[in-house]
Amino acid sequence: MVEYCPKCGQKLDEEVPVCPKCGAVLEANVKAIKVKKIAKICFAVIVLILIIIIIASCI
Ligand SMILES: [Zn+2]
Repeated sequence: MVEYCPKCGQKLDEEVPVCPKCGAVLEANVKAIKVKKIAKICFAVIVLILIIIIIASCI
C-alpha cells in the first residue's frame, strides 16, 4: 500500500483510496482494496460450499 500521498506528501494511516488532504486518487490502494474485497468474497463462497457439502453428507 501507499503510505504517503505522492501528490502532497500527507502521511496515510489507513489503506485509503483517496488522499484525505488533497483528494488525489491513490491507484495502488484502490487496487489493493479491490483485491481484498475479491479475496473476502472468494473465502465466503468457499465456506458456503463447505457448509453445503457437510449438510448434504449428513442427510
Ligand atoms: Zn495528498
